Amino acid sequence: MDKKIDLRSDTVTLPNEEMREAIRAAALGDDILGEDPTVKELEQLAASLLGMEDALLTISGTMANQIAVMAMTQRGQEVILGRDSHLYNLEVAGLAALSQVQARPVPVHQGVYDIESIEAAIQPHGVQTARTGLICLENTYNLNEGAVFTLEHMREIRELADRYQVPIYLDGARLFNAATALGVHPSLICREVDAVQICLTKGLGCPLGSLLLGSREFIAEARNIRQRLGGGMRQAGIIAAPGLIGLTKMIDRIGEDHRNATRLHAGLSGIAGIRMAFEKAATNIVSFEVVKAGWDADRLIAKLQRRGIWVKKIGARKMRMVTHCQISFEDVEHTLSSMQQIL
Ligand SMILES: *Cc1c(COP(=O)(O)O)cnc(C)c1O
Repeated sequence: MDKKIDLRSDTVTLPNEEMREAIRAAALGDDILGEDPTVKELEQLAASLLGMEDALLTISGTMANQIAVMAMTQRGQEVILGRDSHLYNLEVAGLAALSQVQARPVPVHQGVYDIESIEAAIQPHGVQTARTGLICLENTYNLNEGAVFTLEHMREIRELADRYQVPIYLDGARLFNAATALGVHPSLICREVDAVQICLTKGLGCPLGSLLLGSREFIAEARNIRQRLGGGMRQAGIIAAPGLIGLTKMIDRIGEDHRNATRLHAGLSGIAGIRMAFEKAATNIVSFEVVKAGWDADRLIAKLQRRGIWVKKIGARKMRMVTHCQISFEDVEHTLSSMQQIL
């Protein structure tokens, strides 16, 4: 069997040669003492790229999300977020366990938040109600969907949040996919929120790390919380060095992932026995169901795997494919022809 085509997630990428070389060559120091020059360079670059005052390197997106909520809320408050968001579903109830806040989920339809639901979810402070401490957005939205919402929609939410004086946090794990799909500079998205996190490990293809960004005061507080969680790091330049390559060289090529996802979507749409979950691939994620009699996700996944193609199961009949920097146009063509043959 030739090359493994791993479409399960954009997190499966291995660091490229340039990143490996950068890790070897990185200038290092003790970052808890503020002495790692490569970490400082990455944090400064990210802050200036995204138009935020300051940035903090964390080990994961989950840690960045949890630190943000801890810094932005008080115990006993409520947090408004999307029903299918990562923060609500995939962080081991961190909101309850770490911040001691209550989640108030609202519906989101293909990435578009229901404004009326958000407004209805904002609590007036009363004797029996909790104060709304934070609104958490996610763009792109939902890791099986990759939906994008527009700057106009963000401004609409911002205007609402300002009216009620509630801060906004953006889980921008795939912020660069959103910016690419919208054709806008990522800083324009960040301008509408108080704090944001981006993952180095998704579209940017780095081996680990996330960046949390916000005001200088917020990042100082976040740095303290990171330390409390045991997330302070010593020679973290080995993480920051590939991160610098991610931010300088990997953003401009994300459009290629979207074109590959669009091609995958179009090809899968034409295969009998496959039903697409959405009308088009909004970014780099394609979800679909196998509807052919006698087939389910397990059977199709096993057949594909024998041909070196890895797909993620997200339901009994439902699967997803995610394109990334290590999936080529030829890989997409090969995947489509294998699907044709199998079904
Ligand atoms: C991947 C992801 C995260 C968490 O990142 P980890 O580095 O895996 O902890 C958070 N939010 C969204 C939307 C994600 O896709």
